[in-house]
Amino acid sequence: MRLSVTSLPGDGIGPEVTSQAICVLEEVAGGFGHDLELDEKEIGGVALEKFGNPLPDATIQACLASQAVLLGAVGSPAFDHNPRELRPEAGLLRLRQELGAFANLRPAVFYPALAACSPLREEIVKGTDILIVRELLGGLYFGQPRSIDTENDGVPGARQAVNTMRYSEPEIERIARVAFQLARTRRRRVLSVDKSNVLECSRLWREVVTRLARDFPDVQLSHMYVDSAAMTLVLKPAEFDVILTENMFGDILSDQVGGVVGSLGLLASASIGGPVGLYEPVHGSAPDIAGQNVANPLGAILSVALMLRHTFHLPKEAECVEAGVISTLMGGFRTRDLARSGERTVSTEEMGSQIAEFVRLAAHSNNRAAS
Ligand code: NAD
Repeated sequence: MRLSVTSLPGDGIGPEVTSQAICVLEEVAGGFGHDLELDEKEIGGVALEKFGNPLPDATIQACLASQAVLLGAVGSPAFDHNPRELRPEAGLLRLRQELGAFANLRPAVFYPALAACSPLREEIVKGTDILIVRELLGGLYFGQPRSIDTENDGVPGARQAVNTMRYSEPEIERIARVAFQLARTRRRRVLSVDKSNVLECSRLWREVVTRLARDFPDVQLSHMYVDSAAMTLVLKPAEFDVILTENMFGDILSDQVGGVVGSLGLLASASIGGPVGLYEPVHGSAPDIAGQNVANPLGAILSVALMLRHTFHLPKEAECVEAGVISTLMGGFRTRDLARSGERTVSTEEMGSQIAEFVRLAAHSNNRAAS
């Protein structure tokens, strides 16, 4: 099968973790007999430096011409004081829009080998396997009008700021459909998270999700307010299956879930729904550790597993990458963020090489068994 992928390493630790993820993808392609076509382009701060634009046209064209995009991270303190449209993050928000990627999938799985990394007791976090399905192109992050104004309600010199939360029925229905469909591949439970006791957007959200649930009688739907969901995620994380929620609630809850299972460096994400899938680790550019070869590449590598599953429909290859991650962790390999005091740590490259080697050997024995 032809796998055409655009790689956008971006800023900070982005290039370090992306290069490891690409090594793993190359082993998958070589080992399982696929034809990998890679194109690398700029986004974020590196694109601003080179072209004065966080998302140059050449990057958009390359992404739209491929089947999937692998992104590292964007963000650099050098651009913190730029106007909003000239910040690295503006490039990523626009890319998501250009790709029509309205469904953001963020899995969070507890690995027994990393029990010590969770701040929660093992008996609480054990068995946690959550998929957050977050709406990505609507709500407060995109709603108009938005502004910081000098106009105000009569207080001289005091500015006021406005953001708008807006959702239409079709926007809610399409993301809810993704959540119900994915629940069918898991434990068939969807929890829809909203704030319908306060927000009109949430009232419409709950109504539309409840209506759509009739098309999925085999999936159990429940609802929870976001404040209650935040608390329950810490008290009983293992009880959740698919969490369906809007843009900002999903942004916050998915980082919280990352804390529950151990490290932000472990979390992968997929943004799907448009013609081209976007795959990226959940973490940012981590300028504090960039260039030191200490970043955890597992979020980026697990993003490759999501790409294999959701864009290329290659579940065996996806499982092979995931098994490589589990085996590497069971073998005691830890980047600095995962290690307890006194434990030996490995570099970004060593961690990536372990998983690439696992995939190479697994693909080899798979081919031998098949022949
Ligand atoms: P961050 O995720 O970059 O870092 C938070 C903390 O986690 C830091 O201490 C960092 O060292 C650590 N960390 C993150 N990823 C790690 C990894 N793979 N391995 C080991 N440790 C890791 O978040 P931040 O510090 O709030 O933001 C830094 C920059 O990244 C900002 O410019 C922000 O806007 C940007 N950002 C980008 C994205 C993205 O590209 N999707 C997401 C979040 C933040």
